[in-house]
This record gives sequence, C-alpha cells and structure tokens, in this order.
Amino acid sequence: MLTLAIIKPDAVRAGLAGKILAHLEAAGFAVRAARLVKLSPAQAEAFYEVHRARPFYRSLVTFMTSGPALALALQRADAVAQLRKVIGATDPADAEPGTVRKLYAESKEQNAIHASDSAETAAREVAFFFPEAELRELGGSR
Ligand code: GDP
Repeated sequence: MLTLAIIKPDAVRAGLAGKILAHLEAAGFAVRAARLVKLSPAQAEAFYEVHRARPFYRSLVTFMTSGPALALALQRADAVAQLRKVIGATDPADAEPGTVRKLYAESKEQNAIHASDSAETAAREVAFFFPEAELRELGGSR
C-alpha cells in the first residue's frame, strides 16, 4: 500500500530532508517515487482545498509555496496509519517522543512533514504528484 509524504519547505530549507528520509526508511517505508517540487499558489490551494475555510489557510499556502518541498510516494504494510504514527501529532509540542515532528518540526504550521490521513486521501494525494504510469514503471502498487 502506498501513502504520500511531503517533506515540507521548513525541513528542506533547514537541510533536514536526508535525516527525515532516513527516519522513514528505518521505519520500514520504501521510496517508490520522489520529486522535489516548488508548489505554485494554485497547486498548494488545490492540495489543501479541504482547509479552505480554516483561519490558517492563507498562511499555510504561503508557507507551502515558500521553497522546495520533497514529495514522496512511500510503500509498506498499513502505510497510511503507520506513517501517521511515525510523523506524530500536528503540533510538535503534542507529538510523541521520537516522532518526526517532535524531532524536527518548528511549530504547528511549520511542522516538517505532511502525511495522508486516510486510504482515499492517499490515493488522491499520490496521484496529485505522481501519475500512475510513472509509479507502475517504478514498481509501486496501490
Ligand atoms: P496534519 O494532517 O497533521 O498535517 O494536520 P491538518 O490536516 O489538520 O492541517 C494541515 C496542515 O495545516 C498542518 O500540517 C499544518 O501545517 C497546518 N495547520 C494545522 N493546524 C494549524 C493551526 O492551528 N495553525 C496554523 N498556523 N497552521 C495549522
């Protein structure tokens, strides 16, 4: 099963992409596709459409377009739930010790990593960054 992670612009800017990727690999995730992306405002708005009505939406879009981010299609058993566990709570202050956000995140908004929150979301979000044909070539499965 595949899920989508994004190492967010704060973490890429801080030179933490490699450490975070190593953390994910050590947790049993295999990289099936990777792309360094500089999201346009339209792309970030579409990706976070579900949050459009939230007070932090504009700020989130500005943050997510502030620099390159590393989108990853990750594979392992029970990938969606397992990745959510590995990244920790949205606010690093609430995240469990040893999680990616506890270790590497700066704030509730600049929280180092995104992970899909359900199987349906994962399918949509993986397709947002990686066309299915490309994933098949790379040996991923859905
Ligand atoms: P996630 O699934 O843990 O990433 O959390 P959400 O789906 O609820 O929120 C999406 C993203 O919006 C988070 O990862 C944060 O970057 C940002 N965010 C969430 N809640 C807040 C908030 O209360 N304030 C601000 N400034 N940003 C937030």
